[in-house]
Amino acid sequence: MENKVILVTGASRGIGRAIAKELALEGNIVIANYNKSTEKAQELKNELQRENIEIDLYKADVSKRTEVENMIDYIIQKYKKIDVLVNNAGIDLVKLFTEVTDDDWNYVINNNLYSVFCVSQAVSKHMINAKSGLIINISSIFGQIGASCESIYAVSKAGIDGLTKSLAKELSLSNIRVNSIAPGLIDTEMNNDLSEEDIKNVELEIPLKRIGKTEEIAKTVKMLIECDYITGQVIAVNGGWYM
Ligand code: NAP
Repeated sequence: MENKVILVTGASRGIGRAIAKELALEGNIVIANYNKSTEKAQELKNELQRENIEIDLYKADVSKRTEVENMIDYIIQKYKKIDVLVNNAGIDLVKLFTEVTDDDWNYVINNNLYSVFCVSQAVSKHMINAKSGLIINISSIFGQIGASCESIYAVSKAGIDGLTKSLAKELSLSNIRVNSIAPGLIDTEMNNDLSEEDIKNVELEIPLKRIGKTEEIAKTVKMLIECDYITGQVIAVNGGWYM
Protein backbone atom coordinates (compact mmCIF):
# COMPACT_ATOMS: atom_id res chain seq x y z
CA MET A 1 0.00 0.00 0.00
CA GLU A 2 1.43 3.41 -1.05
CA ASN A 3 1.75 5.87 1.87
CA LYS A 4 -1.38 7.95 2.31
CA VAL A 5 -2.52 10.79 4.55
CA ILE A 6 -5.37 9.32 6.61
CA LEU A 7 -7.65 10.96 9.18
CA VAL A 8 -9.33 8.58 11.63
CA THR A 9 -11.93 10.17 13.92
CA GLY A 10 -12.46 8.79 17.42
CA ALA A 11 -9.11 7.01 17.46
CA SER A 12 -8.31 7.16 21.19
CA ARG A 13 -10.14 3.92 21.99
CA GLY A 14 -11.83 0.84 20.55
CA ILE A 15 -12.34 0.41 16.81
CA GLY A 16 -10.82 3.78 15.82
CA ARG A 17 -7.67 3.03 17.77
CA ALA A 18 -7.25 -0.34 16.01
CA ILE A 19 -7.80 1.32 12.61
CA ALA A 20 -5.26 4.08 13.33
CA LYS A 21 -2.72 1.52 14.56
CA GLU A 22 -3.11 -0.84 11.60
CA LEU A 23 -2.80 2.00 9.05
CA ALA A 24 0.19 3.57 10.82
CA LEU A 25 1.96 0.20 10.96
CA GLU A 26 1.44 0.01 7.17
CA GLY A 27 3.53 3.19 6.81
CA ASN A 28 0.75 5.73 6.25
CA ILE A 29 0.64 9.21 7.77
CA VAL A 30 -2.16 8.91 10.32
CA ILE A 31 -3.91 11.75 12.09
CA ALA A 32 -5.69 10.23 15.09
CA ASN A 33 -8.55 12.43 16.21
CA TYR A 34 -9.94 12.13 19.75
CA ASN A 35 -12.10 14.22 22.05
CA LYS A 36 -12.09 13.41 25.77
CA SER A 37 -9.60 10.53 26.18
CA THR A 38 -6.33 12.47 26.01
CA GLU A 39 -4.38 9.91 28.06
CA LYS A 40 -5.51 6.98 25.91
CA ALA A 41 -4.65 8.87 22.72
CA GLN A 42 -1.19 9.61 24.12
CA GLU A 43 -0.80 5.90 25.05
CA LEU A 44 -1.45 4.96 21.41
CA LYS A 45 1.15 7.49 20.24
CA ASN A 46 3.69 6.15 22.78
CA GLU A 47 2.96 2.53 21.83
CA LEU A 48 3.66 3.28 18.15
CA GLN A 49 6.74 5.38 18.97
CA ARG A 50 8.25 2.29 20.61
CA GLU A 51 8.09 0.78 17.09
CA ASN A 52 9.60 3.98 15.59
CA ILE A 53 6.29 5.04 14.10
CA GLU A 54 4.90 8.57 14.50
CA ILE A 55 1.22 9.45 14.46
CA ASP A 56 -0.31 12.89 14.78
CA LEU A 57 -2.89 13.32 17.57
CA TYR A 58 -5.57 15.99 17.13
CA LYS A 59 -8.16 16.83 19.81
CA ALA A 60 -11.48 17.97 18.34
CA ASP A 61 -15.13 17.36 19.04
CA VAL A 62 -16.35 16.22 15.61
CA SER A 63 -19.91 17.31 16.43
CA LYS A 64 -18.73 20.96 16.42
CA ARG A 65 -18.22 22.54 13.00
CA THR A 66 -15.58 25.08 14.06
CA GLU A 67 -13.45 22.40 15.72
CA VAL A 68 -13.80 20.20 12.63
CA GLU A 69 -12.80 23.02 10.27
CA ASN A 70 -9.77 23.89 12.42
CA MET A 71 -8.70 20.23 12.37
CA ILE A 72 -9.00 19.95 8.59
CA ASP A 73 -7.16 23.27 8.07
CA TYR A 74 -4.36 21.97 10.31
CA ILE A 75 -4.04 18.74 8.31
CA ILE A 76 -4.11 20.50 4.93
CA GLN A 77 -1.52 23.06 6.03
CA LYS A 78 0.79 20.36 7.37
CA TYR A 79 0.33 17.52 4.85
CA LYS A 80 -1.24 19.34 1.83
CA LYS A 81 -3.91 16.65 1.29
CA ILE A 82 -6.17 14.02 2.86
CA ASP A 83 -6.30 10.76 0.91
CA VAL A 84 -8.56 8.80 3.23
CA LEU A 85 -11.12 9.85 5.84
CA VAL A 86 -12.42 7.27 8.30
CA ASN A 87 -15.51 8.59 10.10
CA ASN A 88 -15.43 6.31 13.13
CA ALA A 89 -16.25 8.54 16.14
CA GLY A 90 -19.55 7.65 17.73
CA ILE A 91 -21.52 7.22 20.93
CA ASP A 92 -24.33 4.93 22.03
CA LEU A 93 -27.56 5.53 23.93
CA VAL A 94 -29.62 2.72 25.46
CA LYS A 95 -33.07 3.94 26.48
CA LEU A 96 -36.73 3.05 26.05
CA PHE A 97 -38.12 4.94 23.04
CA THR A 98 -40.86 6.47 25.21
CA GLU A 99 -38.21 7.98 27.50
CA VAL A 100 -35.93 9.47 24.84
CA THR A 101 -35.84 13.27 25.20
CA ASP A 102 -35.13 15.94 22.59
CA ASP A 103 -31.73 16.43 24.23
CA ASP A 104 -31.02 12.68 23.82
CA TRP A 105 -32.03 12.88 20.15
CA ASN A 106 -29.76 15.88 19.54
CA TYR A 107 -26.88 14.28 21.46
CA VAL A 108 -26.94 11.04 19.44
CA ILE A 109 -27.68 12.60 16.06
CA ASN A 110 -25.04 15.32 16.52
CA ASN A 111 -22.30 12.94 17.64
CA ASN A 112 -23.06 10.11 15.20
CA LEU A 113 -24.59 11.65 12.08
CA TYR A 114 -24.04 15.42 12.00
CA SER A 115 -20.36 14.71 12.73
CA VAL A 116 -20.09 12.51 9.61
CA PHE A 117 -21.83 15.19 7.51
CA CYS A 118 -19.60 17.90 8.93
CA VAL A 119 -16.23 16.13 8.62
CA SER A 120 -17.07 14.68 5.19
CA GLN A 121 -18.09 18.10 3.89
CA ALA A 122 -14.90 19.76 5.15
CA VAL A 123 -12.69 16.97 3.75
CA SER A 124 -14.49 16.37 0.45
CA LYS A 125 -13.78 19.94 -0.72
CA HIS A 126 -10.08 19.09 -0.70
CA MET A 127 -10.66 15.64 -2.22
CA ILE A 128 -12.70 17.22 -5.05
CA ASN A 129 -9.80 19.61 -5.79
CA ALA A 130 -7.40 16.66 -5.77
CA LYS A 131 -9.83 14.58 -7.91
CA SER A 132 -9.11 11.65 -5.62
CA GLY A 133 -10.16 10.32 -2.25
CA LEU A 134 -11.82 7.69 -0.12
CA ILE A 135 -14.33 8.13 2.70
CA ILE A 136 -15.13 5.19 4.97
CA ASN A 137 -17.99 5.57 7.44
CA ILE A 138 -18.37 3.24 10.39
CA SER A 139 -22.11 2.63 10.69
CA SER A 140 -23.62 -0.41 12.44
CA ILE A 141 -25.64 -3.58 12.00
CA PHE A 142 -28.33 -1.73 14.00
CA GLY A 143 -28.73 0.78 11.16
CA GLN A 144 -29.59 -2.21 8.96
CA ILE A 145 -31.89 -4.22 11.24
CA GLY A 146 -32.97 -1.74 13.95
CA ALA A 147 -32.39 -2.13 17.67
CA SER A 148 -34.83 -2.25 20.55
CA CYS A 149 -33.97 0.44 23.15
CA GLU A 150 -31.35 1.93 20.79
CA SER A 151 -33.75 3.47 18.29
CA ILE A 152 -32.02 6.84 17.93
CA TYR A 153 -28.63 5.14 17.59
CA ALA A 154 -30.12 2.94 14.84
CA VAL A 155 -31.55 6.05 13.12
CA SER A 156 -28.14 7.74 13.19
CA LYS A 157 -26.44 4.70 11.68
CA ALA A 158 -29.10 4.18 8.98
CA GLY A 159 -28.61 7.88 8.15
CA ILE A 160 -24.89 7.28 7.72
CA ASP A 161 -25.58 4.49 5.21
CA GLY A 162 -27.92 6.81 3.28
CA LEU A 163 -25.27 9.51 3.20
CA THR A 164 -22.67 6.94 2.09
CA LYS A 165 -24.69 5.88 -0.95
CA SER A 166 -25.62 9.46 -1.91
CA LEU A 167 -22.04 10.70 -1.66
CA ALA A 168 -20.76 7.66 -3.53
CA LYS A 169 -22.97 8.75 -6.46
CA GLU A 170 -22.28 12.50 -6.22
CA LEU A 171 -18.55 12.37 -5.52
CA SER A 172 -17.76 9.62 -8.04
CA LEU A 173 -17.56 12.46 -10.59
CA SER A 174 -14.42 13.57 -8.74
CA ASN A 175 -12.98 10.05 -8.43
CA ILE A 176 -13.91 9.82 -4.74
CA ARG A 177 -15.14 6.52 -3.32
CA VAL A 178 -17.45 6.35 -0.31
CA ASN A 179 -18.31 3.19 1.65
CA SER A 180 -19.71 2.18 5.03
CA ILE A 181 -18.55 -0.61 7.27
CA ALA A 182 -21.41 -1.95 9.40
CA PRO A 183 -19.93 -3.87 12.33
CA GLY A 184 -21.88 -6.38 14.38
CA LEU A 185 -21.08 -6.58 18.09
CA ILE A 186 -17.40 -5.73 18.60
CA ASP A 187 -15.44 -6.08 21.83
CA THR A 188 -14.98 -2.45 22.97
CA GLU A 189 -15.84 -0.18 25.91
CA MET A 190 -19.04 0.79 24.07
CA ASN A 191 -20.47 -2.56 25.19
CA ASN A 192 -19.30 -2.35 28.81
CA ASP A 193 -22.89 -2.30 30.02
CA LEU A 194 -23.52 -5.80 28.60
CA SER A 195 -23.13 -8.66 31.10
CA GLU A 196 -21.22 -11.85 30.24
CA GLU A 197 -24.59 -13.56 29.93
CA ASP A 198 -25.88 -10.88 27.50
CA ILE A 199 -22.80 -11.44 25.33
CA LYS A 200 -23.19 -15.25 25.44
CA ASN A 201 -26.81 -14.87 24.32
CA VAL A 202 -25.78 -12.69 21.38
CA GLU A 203 -23.03 -15.16 20.45
CA LEU A 204 -25.63 -17.94 20.23
CA GLU A 205 -27.43 -15.89 17.54
CA ILE A 206 -24.27 -15.27 15.48
CA PRO A 207 -23.45 -18.00 12.91
CA LEU A 208 -19.71 -17.68 13.68
CA LYS A 209 -20.57 -17.98 17.43
CA ARG A 210 -18.46 -15.09 18.69
CA ILE A 211 -18.43 -11.30 18.82
CA GLY A 212 -15.94 -9.41 16.66
CA LYS A 213 -12.51 -7.92 17.34
CA THR A 214 -11.50 -4.32 16.64
CA GLU A 215 -8.67 -5.60 14.41
CA GLU A 216 -11.25 -7.22 12.12
CA ILE A 217 -12.77 -3.81 11.39
CA ALA A 218 -9.27 -2.35 10.86
CA LYS A 219 -8.52 -5.09 8.30
CA THR A 220 -11.75 -4.25 6.46
CA VAL A 221 -10.69 -0.59 6.27
CA LYS A 222 -7.38 -1.73 4.79
CA MET A 223 -9.22 -3.88 2.25
CA LEU A 224 -11.39 -0.91 1.19
CA ILE A 225 -8.29 1.24 0.74
CA GLU A 226 -6.72 -1.42 -1.47
CA CYS A 227 -9.76 -2.33 -3.64
CA ASP A 228 -10.26 0.59 -6.03
CA TYR A 229 -13.49 -0.76 -7.52
CA ILE A 230 -15.68 -0.72 -4.38
CA THR A 231 -17.96 2.28 -3.82
CA GLY A 232 -21.43 2.95 -2.38
CA GLN A 233 -21.39 -0.28 -0.36
CA VAL A 234 -22.28 -1.14 3.20
CA ILE A 235 -19.79 -3.85 4.12
CA ALA A 236 -21.19 -6.01 6.92
CA VAL A 237 -18.56 -7.33 9.34
CA ASN A 238 -20.78 -9.19 11.77
CA GLY A 239 -19.98 -12.93 11.82
CA GLY A 240 -23.12 -13.55 9.78
CA TRP A 241 -25.41 -12.10 12.48
CA TYR A 242 -27.35 -10.39 9.68
CA MET A 243 -27.11 -11.45 6.04
P1 NAP B 1 -15.73 3.36 21.95
O1 NAP B 1 -14.80 2.31 22.39
O2 NAP B 1 -16.74 3.91 22.90
O3 NAP B 1 -14.89 4.57 21.31
C1 NAP B 1 -15.55 5.67 20.78
C2 NAP B 1 -14.53 6.62 20.18
O4 NAP B 1 -15.25 7.72 19.58
C3 NAP B 1 -13.60 7.21 21.23
O5 NAP B 1 -12.31 7.28 20.70
C4 NAP B 1 -14.17 8.61 21.45
O6 NAP B 1 -13.17 9.57 21.76
C5 NAP B 1 -14.70 8.93 20.05
N1 NAP B 1 -15.71 9.98 20.06
C6 NAP B 1 -16.99 9.94 20.49
N2 NAP B 1 -17.61 11.12 20.30
C7 NAP B 1 -16.68 11.93 19.73
C8 NAP B 1 -16.69 13.28 19.30
N3 NAP B 1 -17.80 14.04 19.41
N4 NAP B 1 -15.57 13.81 18.76
C9 NAP B 1 -14.44 13.06 18.62
N5 NAP B 1 -14.36 11.78 19.03
C10 NAP B 1 -15.46 11.23 19.58
O7 NAP B 1 -16.61 2.86 20.70
P2 NAP B 1 -16.30 1.79 19.56
O8 NAP B 1 -17.00 0.55 19.92
O9 NAP B 1 -14.85 1.75 19.26
O10 NAP B 1 -17.12 2.45 18.37
C11 NAP B 1 -16.48 3.09 17.27
C12 NAP B 1 -17.53 3.24 16.17
O11 NAP B 1 -18.01 1.96 15.78
C13 NAP B 1 -18.75 4.04 16.60
O12 NAP B 1 -19.21 4.85 15.55
C14 NAP B 1 -19.77 2.95 16.91
O13 NAP B 1 -21.09 3.41 16.79
C15 NAP B 1 -19.42 1.93 15.86
N6 NAP B 1 -19.87 0.57 16.18
C16 NAP B 1 -19.44 -0.07 17.29
C17 NAP B 1 -19.90 -1.36 17.55
C18 NAP B 1 -19.47 -2.14 18.76
O14 NAP B 1 -20.08 -3.19 19.03
N7 NAP B 1 -18.45 -1.71 19.49
C19 NAP B 1 -20.81 -1.95 16.68
C20 NAP B 1 -21.23 -1.27 15.54
C21 NAP B 1 -20.75 0.01 15.30
P3 NAP B 1 -12.91 10.16 23.25
O15 NAP B 1 -13.03 9.01 24.21
O16 NAP B 1 -11.52 10.71 23.11
O17 NAP B 1 -13.92 11.23 23.48
